[in-house]
Amino acid sequence: MNFFEAKIIKTVKETSDTYSYIMETPEGFAWKAGQHAMFKFKDYDVADEKKERIFTIASAPEDGFLMFTTRISPEHTDFKEILLNKVKVGDVMLIADALGKFDLEMDKYDETLIIAGGVGITPIRSLLKHYAQDNVPAHRITLLYSDDRGEFAYGEFWNELKAQMTNLQLHLISDRDEFTSLIDKYAKEKLNTSEYLIAGSPGMNAAISEKLQSLGVEKDNIKTDNFMGY
Ligand SMILES: Cc1cc2nc3c(=O)[nH]c(=O)nc-3n(C[C@H](O)[C@H](O)[C@H](O)COP(=O)(O)OP(=O)(O)OC[C@H]3O[C@@H](n4cnc5c(N)ncnc54)[C@H](O)[C@@H]3O)c2cc1C
Repeated sequence: MNFFEAKIIKTVKETSDTYSYIMETPEGFAWKAGQHAMFKFKDYDVADEKKERIFTIASAPEDGFLMFTTRISPEHTDFKEILLNKVKVGDVMLIADALGKFDLEMDKYDETLIIAGGVGITPIRSLLKHYAQDNVPAHRITLLYSDDRGEFAYGEFWNELKAQMTNLQLHLISDRDEFTSLIDKYAKEKLNTSEYLIAGSPGMNAAISEKLQSLGVEKDNIKTDNFMGY
């Protein structure tokens, strides 16, 4: 497998347990918004059996830098321990070719509901940053970004996005009931005239996908980005 060397230029604590790692884009590395890649350390040995992790590239090509964002729970693997307590600016991450096809289909639908839970927001940040650059105001996008603790990543980014995209309705939600009722309301109103993107843990994706289908949304109109490993 081909790995590129990406130098870390900044780390950001996004929430009480979520961190972003920002890197220079290596020469020759290309990706599309919404894709993910395999990451390894160049400078550290990992004690876990699995030495690498897949992370979404949370930045868009338009950002001009590479970024991944990850949750580090109090109990965590050695890979996450290295990220939390050893990695520093100037270290090098190894990144493999980007993969994946998680995207909006603007030519097929007039509107999109995006449902993201916790760290599942990473591909959404990338996609919205990308589409904000060449915004299609006629395509309506509703984002329901849920976090039970009310801790949302990327701070000011959301205000910048709202200023750029008048077609974006953004809801940062910490109440599970509100989250569920907004999904219900939207699906009942739009049914199969909208596409539905879901990004979160496999459990969350399956539950919401089932719910949408029980409300009459066809499977073909639902796309999920599964973060296996959570
Ligand atoms: C397409 C794709 C995209 C992805 N994108 C992202 C992304 O953008 N960001 C991201 O963070 N992940 C992403 N993932 C998931 C990622 O690859 C990892 O699987 C995930 O971050 C878990 O990492 P980890 O194995 O180091 O476990 P950890 O995060 O350390 O732990 C996972 C769970 O196990 C528990 N645990 C771990 N070690 C212990 C222990 N010793 N004792 C008790 N409990 C423990 C933790 O508390 C936690 O609940 C993606 C996966 C895929 C397939």
